[in-house]
Amino acid sequence: MKARSDRMRRMGNTVAFVPTMGFLHEGHLKLLKEGRKRGDDLVLSIFVNPTQFGPNEDLDAYPRNLERDLALAEKEGVDVVFTPDKQMLYGERFQTYVQLEHLPNHLCGISRPVHFRGVATVVTKLFNIVKPHVAVFGEKDFQQLAVIRQMVRDLDFDIEIVGIPTVREYDGLAMSSRNTNLSPEQRTSGLSLHKSLLQSFEHIQRGEKKSSAIIDAASELIQSFPETQIDYITICDPDTLDDVDIIDGPVVMALAVKIGKTRLIDNMILKP
Ligand code: AMP
Repeated sequence: MKARSDRMRRMGNTVAFVPTMGFLHEGHLKLLKEGRKRGDDLVLSIFVNPTQFGPNEDLDAYPRNLERDLALAEKEGVDVVFTPDKQMLYGERFQTYVQLEHLPNHLCGISRPVHFRGVATVVTKLFNIVKPHVAVFGEKDFQQLAVIRQMVRDLDFDIEIVGIPTVREYDGLAMSSRNTNLSPEQRTSGLSLHKSLLQSFEHIQRGEKKSSAIIDAASELIQSFPETQIDYITICDPDTLDDVDIIDGPVVMALAVKIGKTRLIDNMILKP
């Protein structure tokens, strides 16, 4: 992979990169289309990164289908699919991690304490191996995108980071590889995330400024669906991720909800 990227760079080609954990869906394909536009050489990585999963999380249950992913990648005009394995990326005495000080102390980082350390570390390694000029990420993982942008600034990576709006199913459910683990009933409960974001959008349009009132209403809506267990619902500053109590500028509303055993996340930028 390194040798190929060196060759591409020597030839003056732009390398575009889309890192994923595979089990590709339309959201990933949107990222690949953007990468295709921006790069002469388009690299997709597929790696279910163990260091971003906590001990009681769904590493083993994470869906995988490499054969299908390769066919989709080919259709999107991907030049290289990089599929490292755990041994390749984390040798026996691996001991170096990339850790951000502040951004992980919010949202998903609270219930997933090792998650962003794992993400920042694997993305750093992938950046060093793939050597892209531009890398494309989804806004669905809002905090992840914030972490990567910050890390790229802080550590002087010479890589342009591009964010892509969340791709949704016809009924609003944010596309996610994890959706495949939902039963039909659970999928209906999964719709409560987007519904609560739309409801919050309307509350703000009608003049509500208090985050607590909007969050309470969202929480009530989500709890009215079976098998839902709210991890967090937060209204925060899109840059710092600090909580916002009174909304007088653009904020991000972000939430994580467990539907049975499957944890889903979603977010929306809201403006008064
Ligand atoms: P994952 O395979 O879930 O780790 O995601 C790989 C990349 O795809 C990340 O940058 C995600 O933010 C992005 N992504 C995942 N789901 C969506 C979606 N529904 N819309 C847009 N991007 C997405």
